Amino acid sequence: MSLSQKAESIASEFVFSDDDVRKCSKQFIFELDKGLKSVVPTVCQIPTYVTKVARGTEKGVSLAVDLGGTNLRVCSVELNGDTTLTAKHAKKVIPPGIMTAATGAELFHLIAHEIDQFLQLHHRDALEKLRQSKDVLPLGFTFSYPAYQTSINSGILLRWTKGFVIPDVVNKDVCQLLQVAIDEFNLPVEVTALVNDALGALMFRTYTLPLSQTRTSVGAIFGTGTNGVYLEKLSNITKSLGNHDDSTGEMFISCEWGSFDNGLLVQPNTTYDVKVDQISMNPGNQMFEKRVSGMFQGELLRVVLNELYADPDAGLFRGVQWNDPAQGEGPAPFFTPWAIDTSLLSMAAADNAQELPALSKALVETLRISADHVSADDVRAVKTIADAIGKRAARLAGMAIASVLIKGGRMTVDRNLLPVTGIVENPSDVEGVDIAVDGSVVELYPGFERYMREAWSVIDDIGPAGERMIKMGIAKDGSSIGAAIIALIAQMDV
Ligand code: ADP
Repeated sequence: MSLSQKAESIASEFVFSDDDVRKCSKQFIFELDKGLKSVVPTVCQIPTYVTKVARGTEKGVSLAVDLGGTNLRVCSVELNGDTTLTAKHAKKVIPPGIMTAATGAELFHLIAHEIDQFLQLHHRDALEKLRQSKDVLPLGFTFSYPAYQTSINSGILLRWTKGFVIPDVVNKDVCQLLQVAIDEFNLPVEVTALVNDALGALMFRTYTLPLSQTRTSVGAIFGTGTNGVYLEKLSNITKSLGNHDDSTGEMFISCEWGSFDNGLLVQPNTTYDVKVDQISMNPGNQMFEKRVSGMFQGELLRVVLNELYADPDAGLFRGVQWNDPAQGEGPAPFFTPWAIDTSLLSMAAADNAQELPALSKALVETLRISADHVSADDVRAVKTIADAIGKRAARLAGMAIASVLIKGGRMTVDRNLLPVTGIVENPSDVEGVDIAVDGSVVELYPGFERYMREAWSVIDDIGPAGERMIKMGIAKDGSSIGAAIIALIAQMDV
């Protein structure tokens, strides 16, 4: 088989057909329902204890700290009470050693240190006033790892994902650990909310929407990891809940869909998916995430390209001289697990010119090989595979969003009569369904939304007419701001 035939054949293994979308969505909804009824704490369908969306009229100052899979962000937000706000941000790449630190104390000390530095830099005066008045700033902790919540400001870590492995944090309350570290810095800051990034993104978007527009009922993240939140009727949540506000009759549920591992959802399961799973830190877990999120798509591409390289008939990058580590050139990224970023797939998707010049250049730069060894056929084969992986990810993402929209009752004819909590005073004025998304994959992968929309329109309960009713907006870096908004509302509610 020639290189292009072989590439086409592998690409076909990644096809997630319309029929697959429909079947998986049914199974997904089944899993969502099952998770609401579970009697033991599960990593899925976690109640968030957030029972209402922002009105857009809230006023005040609050903080958030966001422990992502790549970055640690700190922000402060001043809500002006008119859907506008002022935010200040700081961002630090999480040092690799910290993700596998010997103790959680090291991690939480680093987070508290960043909060301290941020406050010294941006809010020195306010800090003094707070100390004098003995007031505290509310802080939302954006913590996007499966944590079992029993209240809005406590959460027991069930397991790490996204490359973190710090065993002594598992089964502990991460809010308490953070509060202890903050107190060691003697800061007037109180952790009032534990928030996952999807809910943060949703809350940011809904605070900033014009009041006349449909409130946001679904939030989703497609970045290093992936997750979704949606509004569920309290009457459907039959597993045990701690003390909560039941005035709205609804609560946001964090699906933790990255860890949906049911075999029927792990489709299609190519030999390349199996390989990536095996070399991952958590084989057999986070199977949905391993097909959808940014952490894994680049690695999937690398694994497939390695096979094409090793196959003498296909002969990808024939004759290339790889880096020689003995010469101090460092190991070739092509042979280094996790060395290829998902941004390469975005480059491939964006380049539709005849000779694929941008992708060609990106390959030379990313793989550090000489341009002479990258033939037109090589680049075409890389594009074929990259597009297949990216398209599957987006269609799976679309299937997941469709499923929570259906499960939350947003696609039924009376969807506007559902109270999208706390704000819609005249529901008949409100059109459509609104979702907030964030993360580099959904933001930067060309065609991600288009592929998601294609998936929505083939699902019976949505169809082309339903698809047109779904508004989707990027809540850029919204997870931190949203967490700060939730923290402020939580403090007001006490
Ligand atoms: P986080 O999820 O850690 O908060 P991001 O939303 O930026 O941060 O997601 C980071 C992930 O996005 C990484 O896995 C990276 O591979 C992927 N990524 C970065 N740039 C792009 C891009 N241009 N296109 C697609 N994926 C990207």
